[in-house]
Amino acid sequence: MIDAHVHLITMEMLEDAVKRFEKHYPGSDKKIRKSGHRIFDDESMKYLSGTNLKEKADDWLKVMDENGIEKAVFLPISQRPEQMRDFMANSPERLYGYVYINDPASPDAPDVLKSGVNEYGLCGLKLYPSIQLFHAYDKKLFALYEEAQGLGVPITFHYGITHAPMADYRYTNPLDLQLPLRLFPKLNFIIAHFGAGFFREVCLLGYHTKNLYLDTSGTNNWTEYTPENWKLKEIFKRSIEIYSPQRIVFGTDTVLRPDTGYRTSIMKEQINVVESLGISSEERDLIFGGNAKRLYFTSSAG
Ligand SMILES: [Zn+2]
Repeated sequence: MIDAHVHLITMEMLEDAVKRFEKHYPGSDKKIRKSGHRIFDDESMKYLSGTNLKEKADDWLKVMDENGIEKAVFLPISQRPEQMRDFMANSPERLYGYVYINDPASPDAPDVLKSGVNEYGLCGLKLYPSIQLFHAYDKKLFALYEEAQGLGVPITFHYGITHAPMADYRYTNPLDLQLPLRLFPKLNFIIAHFGAGFFREVCLLGYHTKNLYLDTSGTNNWTEYTPENWKLKEIFKRSIEIYSPQRIVFGTDTVLRPDTGYRTSIMKEQINVVESLGISSEERDLIFGGNAKRLYFTSSAG
């Protein structure tokens, strides 16, 4: 199995993120540290500051062994490709990392991506419009898409609701991707968490689209904030009907910390849901690893 959406967070990345929020929303620093996501609590801070990258990698490899995870793809929260490289170096066959670009609309963004892939060995790009404050259809992003398409690496977008301490939901509609999907047909786009609330929009994007994937990661408790309040089974079923098992990618969205560990219950829930849908074992294997393999570890993802 491949977990295609987990996170590497370091103390330095966390500080970068706080500074970015502070830049966008002056005065937010204290508020974020006090009321932010549980990442800022004592237990997390102790773990983040008390372990180096090798120890973090060792902890990850241990939980991956315990949970039958062969490889994992790590998303960073700031532009620290050297940390991701040093983390991955502890087990290059099992730990894979993404590029983060502080300002994806800037003219040097394509170069940041290129060096991330070619010099640091990273395998994808994470973009977060509601935090980075851009619309995917903005032409300023097109050079970045062009670069990603040329390099053959996918881009994962977080749309929809988020527990990030500050976000602007005016940037969170996946329909922003409709034009880029058409203009960059050889670039693989991935929407995380089934669109985290914008499931109707995510379904509509499936119309005549071949280069969009959905990642299943997280608790998917966004369903509780939608009018339908669908069960996870219905989300998987509809996604598979529209996107086929070839374009659904398993992830847990684990942020490792000693007290909570790997999100085994999320993994098990998803395995049970997919099994209950009665698809073939080959199709199931695509969702839990085969698609990620094609997207990240071969040069011709389709
Ligand atoms: Zn995530």
